[in-house]
Amino acid sequence: MKINRNYLRLPDNYLFSTIAAKTRAYQAAHPQQALIKLSIGDVSRPLPVPVVKTLQDASAEMGQRATFQGYGPETGYPWLKAAIRDYYQTTKGVTLTPDEIIISDGAKSDVANLLDIFDPHCTVAMTDPVYPVYWESNVMVGHKIKLLPATAKNGFLPMPNRHARVDLIYLCNPANPTGVCYTREQLKQWVDFALKHHAVILYDAAYEAFVRDPQLPTSIYQIAGAKQCAIEICSLSKTAGFTGLRCGYTVVPTALIARGVSLNRLWQRRQTAKFNGVSYLVQRAAAAVFSPTGWTAIQRNLRYYQRNTTLITQTLDSLNWSYVGGVHSPYVWVRCPKGQTAWQFFDYLLSHAGIICTPGVGFGKAGEHYVRLTGFNTYAQTRRACQLLNKVLTQFKQNI
Ligand code: PLP
Repeated sequence: MKINRNYLRLPDNYLFSTIAAKTRAYQAAHPQQALIKLSIGDVSRPLPVPVVKTLQDASAEMGQRATFQGYGPETGYPWLKAAIRDYYQTTKGVTLTPDEIIISDGAKSDVANLLDIFDPHCTVAMTDPVYPVYWESNVMVGHKIKLLPATAKNGFLPMPNRHARVDLIYLCNPANPTGVCYTREQLKQWVDFALKHHAVILYDAAYEAFVRDPQLPTSIYQIAGAKQCAIEICSLSKTAGFTGLRCGYTVVPTALIARGVSLNRLWQRRQTAKFNGVSYLVQRAAAAVFSPTGWTAIQRNLRYYQRNTTLITQTLDSLNWSYVGGVHSPYVWVRCPKGQTAWQFFDYLLSHAGIICTPGVGFGKAGEHYVRLTGFNTYAQTRRACQLLNKVLTQFKQNI
């Protein structure tokens, strides 16, 4: 029996497990201290009323013989696909057909599972720092990985290298962890590069709903030529508080043909073979998100998180502290005090302010000397954290 030895190349602990273990140990040693979590990207606002009401109604339907639902279509119910198609048309000016939208249980599984439809000897480009799932899932299948450093030098937005040979390109926009966002002109360069080199872009739009500036792209299909070279992966996790419910969708345009083969057909084939679809209840809840009352309620939650990130960025601005992100994203990418590594600064913030952050180096080598803060906690907790941040960072300011 042979095992997949690529798994042995993975680090033992997933980043957030390490943070949780360190936090538990600290809390056990300091049981009186209240800790504030500005680390993991999980939402804190409960589901809005229209979504909860729909879940209740759909549950009642499942208990009645006449309305009970068994297996649904593997790629999603037509009414949810139609709601997403309309969302793209009205908010993004992008025309899709329902066949191009494939409903999933979230973006994490799709960004990893999509590798099933590509050759196992692909060369894959991704940024450094990066959402760890891209890197880990590509290590698991043995792909060659080319890292594109996202640093202060390139505004944390790497651009294509004309000479690079790659088959797949992961772009996360707005980016996790740095919180920065490519402009339409910058995305156009990536699309042109992919078309020229016959590469496919895997565009992760998990945070598209956080974009505030209408000039910035919320879908790669707003860029001419993208339907011929890009797959877009979306999630309701952060947009609508579905981290616990689980629902997302992936758009594979029918115009996307690689070496004469339709990638839409391959992805549908993969999903029908290996996935039995998202539950009826969850898909009903997802459709409620796109209803007028659902969408209004979702916007309130998004504004709530944006108010939190604004508090964080205002605190850093008042200290003249170096950071990026936090405007079109729930993430703020904060420079560590001079001479401190990311884990040292993590320990410092934990022990001096009781704030839990995410060390940037956990997202890749180029994330060293940065930490990620999120706007996903409650307003009261975020305000308290900002007061504490202000206090501890002021001491460093004199040292920078
Ligand atoms: N993509 C990015 C960039 C993320 O940051 C996350 C979650 O944090 C996901 C995908 C996963 O989303 P989902 O909850 O839909 O699996």
